[in-house]
Amino acid sequence: MEKSIIKIVNMSFKYNKEDYLFRNFNLDIKEGSFTTIIGKNGSGKSTLAKILIGLYKAEGYITIDGYLLNDFYIKKIRRIFSACFDNADNHFIGETVKDDLAFTLENLGYSKKEMISSINTIAKKFKLENILEESPEKLNNSEKEKVMIASSLIHKPQILLLDESIYKLNSSDKKLVFKILKEYQKEYKLTIILITHDLEDTLISDNIILLDKGKIILNDTKEKIYEDEKLEKLGFNLPFIVKLSHNLMLYNLLDKVYFDSKEVMDKLWP
Ligand code: ADP
Repeated sequence: MEKSIIKIVNMSFKYNKEDYLFRNFNLDIKEGSFTTIIGKNGSGKSTLAKILIGLYKAEGYITIDGYLLNDFYIKKIRRIFSACFDNADNHFIGETVKDDLAFTLENLGYSKKEMISSINTIAKKFKLENILEESPEKLNNSEKEKVMIASSLIHKPQILLLDESIYKLNSSDKKLVFKILKEYQKEYKLTIILITHDLEDTLISDNIILLDKGKIILNDTKEKIYEDEKLEKLGFNLPFIVKLSHNLMLYNLLDKVYFDSKEVMDKLWP
């Protein structure tokens, strides 16, 4: 049995006195899984993210790697659980990119030598070597998001939550970030939760959750979610490759949905 790294049982939350946004909400995320959470604006995605990082207190029972999410364990949980939100500028603390990367490590009590080695490794992976001495404010938006994600991964957390944190990445940086996320998932069993409004981003994940008004409407593997066009019927634009696969299946040119254009090409023109 795979281990649950995030467990939410009977969680309820409301902003105002009358209406509950989440009511008896349950969710189980397995260690090392990659899940995207989608849903229309206002469906509760960001609120859920903020509850999970301990910013908002909800009723019910939430555990992160077995630790109950409460004031007593929050410090422990912060080591395990890294999160990025949509505004990279709010994330920066250091005067330079290097200081910013060092900040988390300093807090965790890394030695100078370990810090230098971790910064060099992450800078190389994210191709930040040339901007380490720059002020984060002066970076372009794509670089800012890269630095934010790099500084959230530098101490190898067990969970990384990205809430609309990748939409300013340019296409080559996005490819690089996705490659790194997959690598961390495989090598360090990193659990990844990606909240996005762009269904193209779901293609990188293993599982997809659709939220609507605080309720889980769909929660399944990417393969199951895209085996038919249910998301389209619910008003979403399917990723291009999924739509193409369904169209080609109609003409018996494909036998299933593919998530990679190269695989489609190979199938059509072996
Ligand atoms: P999403 O991230 O899916 O767009 P949110 O979690 O931001 O959804 O919002 C869910 C609902 O909660 C919306 O109806 C939104 O108006 C409401 N909401 C979000 N933040 C607040 C807040 N700080 N105070 C009151 N209501 C809020």
